[in-house]
Parts: sequence; structure tokens; C-alpha cells
Amino acid sequence: MAAFFVGLLFAVPASFLSSVLATIVFVLAILLVYGYALVTPGFQAYCPHCRRRVRLGSDTCHHCGRGVFPR
Ligand SMILES: [Zn+2]
Repeated sequence: MAAFFVGLLFAVPASFLSSVLATIVFVLAILLVYGYALVTPGFQAYCPHCRRRVRLGSDTCHHCGRGVFPR
């Protein structure tokens, strides 16, 4: 979702120049953000209990149901 807004952020200035350019910039920005998220370990959350990957932003692990982040 954040990638969509980042893409939009880059696409809006580009749309003043050309709509085709805006589309290209928009797609490139989304790919860039998703690519960055994939290679950066901080973007991936792992359950400390069962060591499996959990969805970002969720408080509990959907595998074992325990809290992912210590409080
Ligand atoms: Zn778990």
C-alpha cells in the first residue's frame, strides 16, 4: 500500500510532462519500493516462537497465534 503512494508521489510531477512518462515512472517507483522491501531484512518479520515468516504489521503470528513483538 505504501508503495502505491510512493509511486503516486513520483508520478504526479511526471504527469505534468507526459502521461506516458507518468505511467512509466509510477510502475518503476512501485517496483523499486517492492524490490527494496524484498532485499531489506527489516521489512520481513519472523515469529520468535515458531521462526516462521509473519505478515507485516500484524501483532500476532498466524501460525502459532502468539505475539510477534515483545511488549
Ligand atoms: Zn509463530
